[in-house]
Amino acid sequence: MDLGISGKRAAVAAASAGLGYASAATLAAEGVQVAICGRDRARIDDAAERIGHGCVPLVADVGDAPGGEAFVAAAVEALGGLDILVTNAGGPPPGNFASTPVSAYPDAIDLNLMSVVAMCKAAVPAMQEQGWGRVVAITSVAVRQPMAELILSNTARAGVTGFLKTLAREVAADGVTVNSAQPGLHRTDRMRQLYGDAPELTMGDPADFGAVVAFLCSEQARFTTGVQLHVDGGSYAGLL
Ligand code: NAD
Repeated sequence: MDLGISGKRAAVAAASAGLGYASAATLAAEGVQVAICGRDRARIDDAAERIGHGCVPLVADVGDAPGGEAFVAAAVEALGGLDILVTNAGGPPPGNFASTPVSAYPDAIDLNLMSVVAMCKAAVPAMQEQGWGRVVAITSVAVRQPMAELILSNTARAGVTGFLKTLAREVAADGVTVNSAQPGLHRTDRMRQLYGDAPELTMGDPADFGAVVAFLCSEQARFTTGVQLHVDGGSYAGLL
């Protein structure tokens, strides 16, 4: 299926590896002009080279609001504007209620909530003006079903989901859609760090996740907004 987005311009955050990389690679293969970021020059250059299709590598740390805003500004400058924003960042450290000090929460909220708010603030008004835009936030299936030992992630991602849903309804009439893609377990460095190479875990292929992100950015998905789509191979057991 032709997604109808060839020639559009996309910024994909935290894309030197994992789910961000897979999302950027799928969009680039669809003919989208993609700018990606990571914190390390050599790694992000290498990722852009592997993605090909003129992918632009930018060094940016999207771990907080100023970093998120700076990445979008650099992507807008590099691409001459923006039609698609895929927000992403690393995940916060593991821990439960007992082991996680209050002082650890602000960093997690900066990383997985405030950076998204800032990226949207920097990108969405121009999308509204041009009457076309797509925002896809990579969050987590933990929004539906909080994961044990990931209390920081569970907390920050619930907040960002409330922000995204509110934004989606505010900009729907301007041709801008705002959705989130919620990964279950996918075979990435983050999952290897958390769970090792545990063979009993059913893990998804990041490329399959990237394909869903690209669909949410498509022309065909123009009437799909405010959705939290879990991509988890059926691991979430709830009805809604
Ligand atoms: P990952 O750690 O494998 O890859 C993240 C990439 O982003 C890495 O290249 C890393 O260097 C880069 N990055 C990290 N922090 C950054 C920052 N502050 N600024 C710029 N670049 C940064 O992670 P992943 O598995 O691809 O996961 C992506 C997101 O999805 C994370 O927030 C993770 O917690 C969440 N998630 C992943 C899964 C999964 O199965 N992989 C499941 C649930 C949630």
